[in-house]
Amino acid sequence: MSRFFNSCYSQLEPYTPGEQPQDKKYIKLNTNESPFPPAPGVIAAVNKQEAENLRLYSDPELKPLKKALAEAYHVEPANVFVSNGSDEALNFAFMAFGEDGIAYPDISYGFYKVFAAVNHIASDVKPLQADFRIRPEDYKGVGKAVVIANPNAPTGLLLSLKEISDIAASNPEHVVIIDEAYIDFGGESAVELTKTYDNLLVVQTFSKSRALAGARVGYAIGNKALIQDLETIKFSTNPYNVNRISMAAAVAAVQDPEYYVHCSQEIIRNREYTTIELRKLGFFVLDSYSNFVFARTDRINGRKLYLDLKDRGILVRHFDDPKICEFNRITIGTRQQMETLIETIKELLELTTTAGGKV
Ligand code: PMP
Repeated sequence: MSRFFNSCYSQLEPYTPGEQPQDKKYIKLNTNESPFPPAPGVIAAVNKQEAENLRLYSDPELKPLKKALAEAYHVEPANVFVSNGSDEALNFAFMAFGEDGIAYPDISYGFYKVFAAVNHIASDVKPLQADFRIRPEDYKGVGKAVVIANPNAPTGLLLSLKEISDIAASNPEHVVIIDEAYIDFGGESAVELTKTYDNLLVVQTFSKSRALAGARVGYAIGNKALIQDLETIKFSTNPYNVNRISMAAAVAAVQDPEYYVHCSQEIIRNREYTTIELRKLGFFVLDSYSNFVFARTDRINGRKLYLDLKDRGILVRHFDDPKICEFNRITIGTRQQMETLIETIKELLELTTTAGGKV
């Protein structure tokens, strides 16, 4: 830290993103990216013309993308905010609505506590139940903003729309943010509920089911007044927050829902395969509604499994938090990648057996 660094950030612990190693080619199952390429129309949209247009600023109002998203979700463009990755929409929502503090689950997306810290917002961290489920009661009438990932990460578990409605209805004076980064892998979106609850903000991303993690595009849907507040924050920080090429890619992605439904169905099938195979090997695997599974075994400790897989060219995500350090979060890839993962884990378990027990 330099001696010039603003002292209000001196205690800040930045978020640690999942590894993006450049040393060799891994089977990359650690940051919940799609194993499939973006839709063919996306590749066509990122063309020479758009590259030449890079000399011009992007549209600060992001009109074509708002229009496309509004049509896809049956809302008005004024109900849509577009951001540089959903991380930016989340950060702006913390800035805009976190004045009285914010409640979120203990085990969840690790960025929430960083967004709270960087914006000097008090965090009210609610433990999960022993079965890793969120307790909706903890968020009812909580008297501050709420952020919940649904499905939650890294557990993959889902709250029902009824539970989300009840949380929104019981906090009429505060904003309830539902982070639906993984909703396309088996959950039901709360977007419709934003028409009933003016305090409900649904955040989604192009990074997961739409295979555009590198383009950095996210969005939020909610009541017009909430969206206007997010626009105020954006136009006070970074008006051209989404670049031209990313917007062109995102518009084309929204226009090919069939392609992405097909990809998500394949991910769901591969998730079922992986869950069944891991359970056959004695793993405890949570019932995931997302594009990853969260799994542990009594036979190899969590960190060792992560390191052994990495040695063999497979990257998964391990967290050091003692409450979940026996687990690994494994992104669902292609069927072939998942078969390789299962075969590799079998070999590792055999080595453990030869070594005579848990290592
Ligand atoms: N929410 C959750 C729950 C996530 O796991 C992620 C991905 N790390 C994000 C939001 C942010 O994704 P992005 O900024 O790529 O849209």
